Amino acid sequence: MADHHETLRGNDLFPPNHAAALERLQAFVPGAGRRYAAERNRDAGPGRRDNVSMLSPYIRHRVLSERQVIQAVLAQHSPEGAEKFIQEVFWRTYWKGWLQMRPQVWRAFLRELAADRARLEQDAGLRSAVTAAQEGRSGVEGFDDWARELVQTGYLHNHARMWFASIWIFTLGLPWTLGAEFFLRHLRDADPASNTLGWRWVAGIQTPGKTYLARADNIARYTDNRFRPDNLATEAHPIREESPPPPTPLPAPPTLPPGQRVLLLLHGDDLGGHEALPAGIDVGGIAVARQGHPDDPWPFGEATAHWFAALAEDAAQRASNALQQPASLLPHLDADNLREACDQANARVIATPGAPVGPMADALARVAATLSVDGIQLIPLRREWDHLAWPHATHGFFRFKREIPDLLARNALTHP
Ligand SMILES: Cc1cc2nc3c(=O)[nH]c(=O)nc-3n(C[C@H](O)[C@H](O)[C@H](O)COP(=O)(O)OP(=O)(O)OC[C@H]3O[C@@H](n4cnc5c(N)ncnc54)[C@H](O)[C@@H]3O)c2cc1C
Repeated sequence: MADHHETLRGNDLFPPNHAAALERLQAFVPGAGRRYAAERNRDAGPGRRDNVSMLSPYIRHRVLSERQVIQAVLAQHSPEGAEKFIQEVFWRTYWKGWLQMRPQVWRAFLRELAADRARLEQDAGLRSAVTAAQEGRSGVEGFDDWARELVQTGYLHNHARMWFASIWIFTLGLPWTLGAEFFLRHLRDADPASNTLGWRWVAGIQTPGKTYLARADNIARYTDNRFRPDNLATEAHPIREESPPPPTPLPAPPTLPPGQRVLLLLHGDDLGGHEALPAGIDVGGIAVARQGHPDDPWPFGEATAHWFAALAEDAAQRASNALQQPASLLPHLDADNLREACDQANARVIATPGAPVGPMADALARVAATLSVDGIQLIPLRREWDHLAWPHATHGFFRFKREIPDLLARNALTHP
């Protein structure tokens, strides 16, 4: 298995450029209908994943937009034929909207993570159990392979993520926040909303009282009998009972002041933001951040950071070609770098795609506060996709998904 993984390292598995993302989309689209619905839960192992799209690292950083992906799918399938795939894409939108209306859940995760990290320092037993789990030495079949696969390739199949999180929490009895952090450090699609809420869902916090228990039969069936662990927990009690906070309505998104030249800032939460600029904007230059704020770096993991830097470079080139403006790469998203880029673009307004709740949003808020002192305005725009969908993430996905036909229509997405 190790040799196979070696050939599938992150950069190979997800070439960090838009052309590769488009190629993968086109190759996957014919299978996005009935085949996806029937086969998507199967994890046949690295190199055998054409039953799923493996598009998430590109969609997560918006090298491909959700709208663009669904548009490509609807060109070959009816909405009913591709219902399952379209719903999965909307899961990402739903989780983002859900967290956007409950930012305190992200803050609580960070606080709990800091406390669990501190416990790790004090508790040698916990430390060695966590290290063994992360290095694939837990002694649980399958789990150890997924730990190595995650570190080596930056990807896990959705079902493997569910099994892994369940075994981490209920079989190994480890703090869920440290597992979520392990994912954030290594996944190329590491995402505050999908990851935190995915782990909370498995743990029984997201849907109070409802946990996800990994079972040997289910693992054997959906891994083509590659794994059948015989030492799994047989019960999964929710790790605590609490109701999620009620949603806070979203404020109206800000708009750009008319007639002013802008610097366009792209970042890890939206590398395709130049495609969503309102018409008629005078763009004087483009800046693309290769990382988040220096005090709160994002992406978390070293391998993902390298991969992301290449993706950012490709995005800068693409935006520069599309807007016919020079693009500069910022080593970090900080005020000094942006002030300089504004001077070069001769702009006092920075237009940037809004970042959903997470480290990038925090970084944008920090630099906005610093730059306002110099009279530079930073304006986070909201994509129409998010603007239309997020307000519906008030309850569970079941209720949200009833809005999908209407959301497709409002985004002018139809089957020819
Ligand atoms: C514990 C746990 C942690 C997770 N962490 C992340 C994460 O950090 N980042 C992340 O992008 N996804 C995360 N997911 C969701 C999901 O596992 C991945 O989006 C999916 O496996 C990506 O692979 P794919 O592109 O081949 O998916 P496909 O099956 O081809 O799905 C198509 C697209 O739909 C979206 N999607 C599918 N399933 C989900 C889902 N459950 N939640 C949200 N969006 C979904 C993705 O954009 C995906 O690219 C997590 C799930 C769990 C259970």
